[in-house]
Amino acid sequence: MSDPERQPPIGLRSTGVMSERELCDCPGVPSPQRLKRGPVVVIECNEEIPCNPCEVLCEKGAIRVGRPITNRPVLDDEKCQGCGLCLAPCPGQAIFLVDASKADGDRVSFPYEFLPLPEKGQIVDGLDRAGRTVTEGQVLRVENTERHDRTPVITLRVPTGYGMKVRSLRIPAR
Ligand code: SF4
Ligand code: SF4
Repeated sequence: MSDPERQPPIGLRSTGVMSERELCDCPGVPSPQRLKRGPVVVIECNEEIPCNPCEVLCEKGAIRVGRPITNRPVLDDEKCQGCGLCLAPCPGQAIFLVDASKADGDRVSFPYEFLPLPEKGQIVDGLDRAGRTVTEGQVLRVENTERHDRTPVITLRVPTGYGMKVRSLRIPAR
């Protein structure tokens, strides 16, 4: 039997990467049932920090921080319309938009502040929360508009089941 004392450290405090258990306990993560019904945000913000632009910006009232401002954001996944407006203003880049309702693969959208930007249609590496390549994805949209305050937001199509795994991309070397 493995000795728990010898297990590698996991979790936000130890590695900077949320563990599966932390994700399940995070009040910003929608239910699996809601994820399958169409686009919804996944708020992976589990630290008690003084921050609330997500709450202020969501006109649907789907995100609640309240008082004190160090509360973790709570998502009302029934109120979220999947508009994506809260992604770019999050200073922690902790908000993702996931759509697990499509037959031809999940969609995941996230801010991307690197150059060069990927191109629509390009096949890229899909990276997990730790920056490891876990699959390939196809770039469906590259938004770089006033709507997102000129912060590029990328939407990838990834294999079914990877919408809750892929959190960034890498452009493969040619
Ligand atoms: S995606 Fe739109 S509706 Fe959903 S939480 Fe963000 S701003 Fe609100
Ligand atoms: S804006 Fe981002 S970092 Fe700030 S509370 Fe909301 S999810 Fe967390």
